[in-house]
Amino acid sequence: MSSGTQVGIVGAGPAGLMLGHLLHLAGIDSVIVENRSREYVIDRVRAGVLEQGTVDLLCAMGVAGGLNRRGLRHEGVYINFDGCRHRVDMAELTSGKAITVYGQNEVVKDLIDARVETGRPLYFDAQEVSVDALDATRPVIRFSHAGTSHELSCDFVAGCDGFHGVCRPSIPAGVLQIYERLYPFGWLGILAEAAPSCDELVYTYHDRGFALFSMRSTDVTRLYLQVPPDEPIANWSDDAIWDEMLRRMTTSDGWSPNVGRILQKSVTAMRSFVAAPMRHARLFLAGDAAHIVPPTGAKGLNLAAADVVVLASALKEFYETGSDAMLDGYSSICLRRVWKAQRFSWWMTTLLHRLPDETPFDHQRHLADLDYLASSRAAMTSLAEQYVGLPWEISLESLHL
Ligand SMILES: Cc1cc2nc3c(=O)[nH]c(=O)nc-3n(C[C@H](O)[C@H](O)[C@H](O)COP(=O)(O)OP(=O)(O)OC[C@H]3O[C@@H](n4cnc5c(N)ncnc54)[C@H](O)[C@@H]3O)c2cc1C
Repeated sequence: MSSGTQVGIVGAGPAGLMLGHLLHLAGIDSVIVENRSREYVIDRVRAGVLEQGTVDLLCAMGVAGGLNRRGLRHEGVYINFDGCRHRVDMAELTSGKAITVYGQNEVVKDLIDARVETGRPLYFDAQEVSVDALDATRPVIRFSHAGTSHELSCDFVAGCDGFHGVCRPSIPAGVLQIYERLYPFGWLGILAEAAPSCDELVYTYHDRGFALFSMRSTDVTRLYLQVPPDEPIANWSDDAIWDEMLRRMTTSDGWSPNVGRILQKSVTAMRSFVAAPMRHARLFLAGDAAHIVPPTGAKGLNLAAADVVVLASALKEFYETGSDAMLDGYSSICLRRVWKAQRFSWWMTTLLHRLPDETPFDHQRHLADLDYLASSRAAMTSLAEQYVGLPWEISLESLHL
């Protein structure tokens, strides 16, 4: 079956769904093609920290009903080392900005509901998805769905299909420059049926390795432990996980996470990755398809949002005025923010994890870094302004949402 649209979007993660809705609000047609089921996409537990700008975007897009009701606004964050929690008052240091904890799966669910309400096409369970003719005036997305083969011709293709998608590998060899760094550790993450014992996130540096206390709701805690990158999850019984969490996180004033039934556990390796440029001919990469950050700085989902704001703005300009100046600037505008987020995520990661080859000198320098952060207003301000999110490259007003 042959059909056409203005923008073909591959992937119904945060990037693809946000782009689809921004284009809808600008009166631009799109078709979203996703290879997983609706249930799988909604149930996938991942990010949970939204920058101030991402919250403002979702509000301006009219998809923040659930976020406003159930999102947990955090005006501070704790750095825990040497048995003491040190609070960074982000709101005070950034003239009132904050982060909001609201699960990525909730964001995705709200965006899918909004998409369905628009009546615009969103195919789940698409098979054999491929992109072709990227250099032609009408590139195509091919896929099969419910036994029918589709050929969708588009003005532009948005590759929002994550790190393991098909769009980036479809770009001819030699076009992309790849920048990559792998880390010698991963995160063992759990979701636990336990009320959060602290209202804000607690990042812990401990002799035995990094740990992070966070939450998804008033009843569910999300916790992470530094482990080797290839650690089999089968090595960790629930009791062993809680023993290690408590050992690393408990502070000298008696604070520790509440223990509860573990609902889900997994190990994720960590990498920093950038593919540049983020455009080839009529294909635009956005979100994890173009870049990955280690999750310590909580930037991945927020970078995906920042990319699609630039892309939607550029497409709006193209369809309204015929100018492709902003489409031409898409990659360089996005990469400026991407590299700042890469730098911040790398810095947070190296500050808070123990490296396997750390010397006694490195260890003392590490502790001095943390001591400086906890005692210098300038250092805390730098952390705070990056954690709540640097200003958008494109003002939301320019989108006329
Ligand atoms: C454990 C963990 C914790 C994290 N914590 C945070 C955090 O606190 N804050 C934060 O900002 N970020 C965090 N992140 C990162 C964040 O989850 C990602 O950056 C975000 O999901 C990127 O969105 P995306 O839409 O670009 O990609 P994805 O969410 O990967 O979406 C891509 C979509 O494309 C689909 N797809 C893939 N291949 C194809 C294909 N061939 N055809 C069609 N569809 C396809 C996928 O099924 C998926 O639905 C975390 C990530 C992990 C793994």
